[in-house]
Amino acid sequence: MGETVRVSEPRRHAYLVVLVVLPPIVLIAAVAVAWGRAIGPLDVLLALVMYAVNIFGISVGYHRLLTHRSFRCSRPVRMTFALAGAMALQGPPTLWAAEHRRHHKYSDKPGDPHSPWAYGDSGFALLRGLLHAQVGWFYSARHRSDHEHWAPDLRSDPDIRRVDAAYPVITAASFLLPAAAGGLLSWSWAGFWTALFWAGLVRYAIVHHATWSVNSIAHCFGDRAFSTRDRSTNVRWVAFLTFGEGWHNWHHVEPTSARHGVLKGQFDPSATLIRLLERMGWAYDVHWPSPARIETQANRHRTENGQEDPSRTERRIRTRR
Ligand SMILES: [Zn+2]
Ligand SMILES: [Zn+2]
Repeated sequence: MGETVRVSEPRRHAYLVVLVVLPPIVLIAAVAVAWGRAIGPLDVLLALVMYAVNIFGISVGYHRLLTHRSFRCSRPVRMTFALAGAMALQGPPTLWAAEHRRHHKYSDKPGDPHSPWAYGDSGFALLRGLLHAQVGWFYSARHRSDHEHWAPDLRSDPDIRRVDAAYPVITAASFLLPAAAGGLLSWSWAGFWTALFWAGLVRYAIVHHATWSVNSIAHCFGDRAFSTRDRSTNVRWVAFLTFGEGWHNWHHVEPTSARHGVLKGQFDPSATLIRLLERMGWAYDVHWPSPARIETQANRHRTENGQEDPSRTERRIRTRR
């Protein structure tokens, strides 16, 4: 059992067309369509609902629950998050978790599936690396992370296996559900088609690029409050778009933490949702970060970088959960 298995050439070309070429074409087409009257408040509303379901599905479901096990929950809640994540069309849960766990093991080193520093630090190499981290890695990877090696826990989970197997159906549902809602709520075929376009295709393209910005932007730009062996950063607008995932620096200090935005002013809606579920009794054994550990880590970073008086750090750390 090795760490990787070979990806066939047709499959890599399929990744390129579906995941890299299609979204920008969809966006360009979207602008052209918008020029007329083919968009209304219902399309925008459905697109926003789908966006929120997908981003929470990826952030809370795929990432914090399934990949890093930062909390536990009942079977229906777990399935709901797995399905919401799958509807974001970033692959079945086991594939996503396997790639992401490999990212954590080799972050920004050889073996990381999507580091923006893969080609070096110079201007053009970094541009190439950013494109690779944002979209290219799907196509360029000659190997994908072996599920048995990286995600044996998910492979042996019958519920997750079912979601993996149902992925083609979930893909169809991700487009047909908002389209059907648009058709029924407007009681027209036009409503069906515009919802399919905006809440289906355009939403999916934007969800993808928002998520992938964590891989590219939040390993390159932004600031660092903690020392890690990788180059993870905090980027406010990425955190805004991804409901907290852009506070990526702390995430690499403590991957199992249910909260990523641990400093004051770092709004983390995904942590808020987990907190809400915990209060309702739907989530338990939640791994909340310890304020003392955050303080220690922040002070360490400051000392290493010759920054301000460490006692000031205390005021920046969130004490509430
Ligand atoms: Zn990372
Ligand atoms: Zn992670």
